[in-house]
Amino acid sequence: TGTLHVVATPIGNLGDLSPRALEVLGKADAICAEDTRHTRQLLAHFGLERPLVALHEHNEEAQSARLVERLQSGESLALVSDAGTPLVSDPGYRLVRAARAAGIRVSPVPGPSALIAALSVAGLASDRFSFEGFLPAKAGARRERLQSLAAEPRTLVFYESSHRIVDSLEAMVGAFGPDRPAVVARELTKLFETVLDGTLRELRERVAADANQQKGEFVVIVEGAGDDADARLAEGMRLYKALSAHLP
Ligand code: SAM
Repeated sequence: TGTLHVVATPIGNLGDLSPRALEVLGKADAICAEDTRHTRQLLAHFGLERPLVALHEHNEEAQSARLVERLQSGESLALVSDAGTPLVSDPGYRLVRAARAAGIRVSPVPGPSALIAALSVAGLASDRFSFEGFLPAKAGARRERLQSLAAEPRTLVFYESSHRIVDSLEAMVGAFGPDRPAVVARELTKLFETVLDGTLRELRERVAADANQQKGEFVVIVEGAGDDADARLAEGMRLYKALSAHLP
């Protein structure tokens, strides 16, 4: 049987594609890609051309069975996403699970991930952290999610896109309080890379006041709740709100 290589690709700077990633991609019988056009361009930049198979959230379940058959017949496949590490807020989980269940070797070619890149420059506790990915798009669900994290002592890491960054910072001020230290990491490894730190209130004001700071891709990192009165109060409020919904 073949091997499924899970290959990390750059989150901006193409120089971050590792030599081993290039070698594995160049040798793969086919590359499973979230967006085949995007990956074809990446390969072309390095002078590579390989057969591509589209694998995205809408066809992953159906494609996985076919791809596992190809692996069983001896082909070697690579899995990439548009940027960073597959399966981290990106497709691939179903394929990897199906391959492992079929006894196929699944091997990582590690490399960039916005999560780790942001954590590595944030200067917030990183011995323990909770990766929260994207918040729910709807305001109510987002508020609830954030409130459920208000007393979490581990550092919190969120992914965010340009059109929601101000709303999300606003919602974080509401759920975690204005004084919680945080970092907004934008466009990492790209031309307009910016890493801002401050309290949530300061960050919300800086980002809201400057349209340029709202462009691009973001990782928001928030210090965990201290074991202080504020955190206990926030947790008390959360429980009170959750319970009061069930009271007459
Ligand atoms: N699999 C990717 C990874 O390992 O980082 C994440 C894919 S997720 C669909 C895309 C999100 O990752 C963006 O909305 C942003 O939150 C974050 N992201 C990706 N590239 C980034 C960059 N260069 N700077 C900051 N955040 C980035």
